[in-house]
Amino acid sequence: MSTATLSRKADFPGLITADGAPWHYLDSAATAQKPQAVIDAMARALGENYATVHRGVYSRSAEMTLGYEEARRKIAALIGADDSEVVFTRGATEAINLVAYSYPDKGRVLLSELEHHSNIVPWQLAGWQVDVCPLTDDGQIDLDAAEAMLTREHTMVSFAHVSNVLGSVLDAERAAELAHSVGAKLLLDGCQSVPRMPVDVAALDCDFYALSAHKLYGPTGIGALWGRAELLDAMPPWQGGGAMIDQVGFDRTTYAPAPQRFEAGTPAITEAITFGAACDYVRNIGLESIHAHEARLVAQTRDALGAMNDVTLYGPEESAGIVSFLIDGIHPHDLGTILDEENVAIRAGHHCAQPLMEKLGIPATARASFGIYSDEEDVAALIRGIERTKRIFG
Ligand code: PMP
Repeated sequence: MSTATLSRKADFPGLITADGAPWHYLDSAATAQKPQAVIDAMARALGENYATVHRGVYSRSAEMTLGYEEARRKIAALIGADDSEVVFTRGATEAINLVAYSYPDKGRVLLSELEHHSNIVPWQLAGWQVDVCPLTDDGQIDLDAAEAMLTREHTMVSFAHVSNVLGSVLDAERAAELAHSVGAKLLLDGCQSVPRMPVDVAALDCDFYALSAHKLYGPTGIGALWGRAELLDAMPPWQGGGAMIDQVGFDRTTYAPAPQRFEAGTPAITEAITFGAACDYVRNIGLESIHAHEARLVAQTRDALGAMNDVTLYGPEESAGIVSFLIDGIHPHDLGTILDEENVAIRAGHHCAQPLMEKLGIPATARASFGIYSDEEDVAALIRGIERTKRIFG
């Protein structure tokens, strides 16, 4: 399949500028554009179908509850999980916070140098002892080093499945084996992997998986935590309120079983249902095809940039959908600003991974990241824009 046949630009109303010109959106790792099917699902959930869930005795509320629980099943199916093990959260950030605060055995956690701040700060705030696994020269989490570092004091290993800066893909099965060999659990930050490759939590043998809907062509404000049933069952609630209880008394309160125990308050009903619609959209296209499509665009981009002798590329050749780079003498923010004049949108900065920038000895990178709708035209526009920027900077 050529990239042109997979590219679904027509499904995405956001990919046109205000003047009607094509918008070359290369910032999908920050957040993905939304297909019309997802926008329509959100409008229906907020409009003709709208009502609360779980409490209503009237039929509209009962239907909304079915839709909300159906969305949970769709998310579970996307990652090969059972829906009773999927907790709705505000995003991946909240999913990681939930485990960091509520996991009962807070010992040492092994993170890596490439983690997003969302997979660093929650562990610090919740009082874990943090150890940091180094990277290989090409920007992968060094699992040989992890093996040497892990001890029986580690109760958790928490790694990005795909790096949001380098696109490196973790060997998750080996990471699970290593974690389990010392009795630790493995949490995978799946923010960048779920939109880019097939994920099966049972095959990966991990223990927790965090994901965000807005990177998966769905809405903001909603994500999910998958956790093994026996682990979720052993975790106390971390936020209290309505919907998460069994019986409330001033002397004693008992809690609902997981996943409801972790969903205090009226949930993000419309967002959850729309998250389900986004899962339908990507499953219909197929994550194998999406992965292959983005791999071709990454290869084209890396080839074109690699041919420029003033460009440094970061991350491994086989990166998933993400290319980080620097051009000698041009700050990524200047590049991003000039590219914007050409209707090309990239990300420039530390990408919420300051420790990784420090490790690389740089303040920032320019990052191009792809999605279902990206195509060769977007890559060509990026390269044209980079050449123009270089001419401007002499
Ligand atoms: N982890 C990674 C690897 C990410 O890319 C992001 C989003 N940039 C997050 C965590 C946080 O996700 P969210 O803000 O959607 O909770």
